[in-house]
Amino acid sequence: MKVLLTGGAGYIGSHTCIELLALGHDVIIVDNFSNSKPEALNRIREISGRDFKFYEADAADPEAMDRIFAENEIDCIIHFAGLKAVGESCHIPLRYYRNNLDSTITLLEAMEKHGVNNIVFSSSATVYGVPERVPLTEDMPAYKTSSPYGWTKIMSEQIFRDACAANPNLSVVLLRYFNPIGAHESGRIGEDPNGIPNNLMPYISQVAIGKLPKLGVFGNDYPTPDGTCVRDYIHVVDLAKGHAKAIEYAAAHKGAEAINLGTGIGYSVLDIVNSFMKVNDIDLPYEIQGRRDGDVPECYADPSKARELLGWVAEKGIEDMCRDSWNWQKNNPKGLD
Ligand code: NAD
Ligand code: UDP
Repeated sequence: MKVLLTGGAGYIGSHTCIELLALGHDVIIVDNFSNSKPEALNRIREISGRDFKFYEADAADPEAMDRIFAENEIDCIIHFAGLKAVGESCHIPLRYYRNNLDSTITLLEAMEKHGVNNIVFSSSATVYGVPERVPLTEDMPAYKTSSPYGWTKIMSEQIFRDACAANPNLSVVLLRYFNPIGAHESGRIGEDPNGIPNNLMPYISQVAIGKLPKLGVFGNDYPTPDGTCVRDYIHVVDLAKGHAKAIEYAAAHKGAEAINLGTGIGYSVLDIVNSFMKVNDIDLPYEIQGRRDGDVPECYADPSKARELLGWVAEKGIEDMCRDSWNWQKNNPKGLD
């Protein structure tokens, strides 16, 4: 297949690109480097030994997208492009709505004009908000999120569903990711956040490399086995493989389908900290701090729909995730700079 990856230079997009190239698909990347670097593209070429087309453009720019669709016979799109920092989205919500919603609408318009029917969308477990129960299943209500970022995912999902209802040829897979961590086993690509990381694993990695003095563990009085929050961490390479399955599914079906991509296993913050120290034989200074606003005690997936519809299950475990995250960080202390 010829697959257009919006945001393909980013963390999840770059890993997915490698999986798709390895499977023999042709890839076109469009990215505006708002949260990534051109070096990511060199690394993808280096790891895969294959080339691909690249456009530096904004996925919300109708003229640019029209040109890209006119110049390429696209079979499927994977729409990763989006701003993703939950906290930042509360400070600059309009930028999040403009970027994340405009790119979704622009893509759907370009698809309609050029007769492209298949798209896979990067949604998030954040659409479930505060879960009524765990594990989370796709039929649980998804309209209670607490951040503008989360709302862009819920609203995009709704836009895709409405577009499907109006166009019976359209096929949309809404992939709800849980907590992607880890990196490609080569250590050549990985998560490269700007500034001080917000997320757990990049923060741990930067403490381990000595860039940050210690990790703050946000709360140990939650109703969980060790009192720290529980999440469904999933290796980014497993996630990337899920996308390869999702494009096949999109090509063979019609309508909109939401599918969780998680392992189904919940690990606490301290599980991750302890595993990171053990697997990598490294000390990790940390201290218990107060709860972070908006955190839910427990969030993990029921991944059975992905198994049934996509034939996909996560294969990598917590040790792989901790080892590969550290391998990436220690080999690239300044990220891709
Ligand atoms: P990322 O920031 O590393 O990658 C996103 C890429 O999109 C970046 O390369 C950025 O430059 C690009 N981009 C952003 N807006 C663009 C636009 N308008 N036009 C062109 N390019 C644009 O993020 P990621 O972690 O790889 O996430 C990919 C997608 O998955 C995002 O939509 C994100 O919201 C979603 N998601 C991520 C997580 C996570 O924890 N990483 C969890 C759930 C969902
Ligand atoms: N967390 C933490 N310290 C940090 C960053 C995160 O204790 O410096 C905790 C956070 O409270 C949550 C878990 O780690 O319970 C995962 O947070 P992350 O931001 O990575 O993902 P989220 O589940 O919030 O999307």
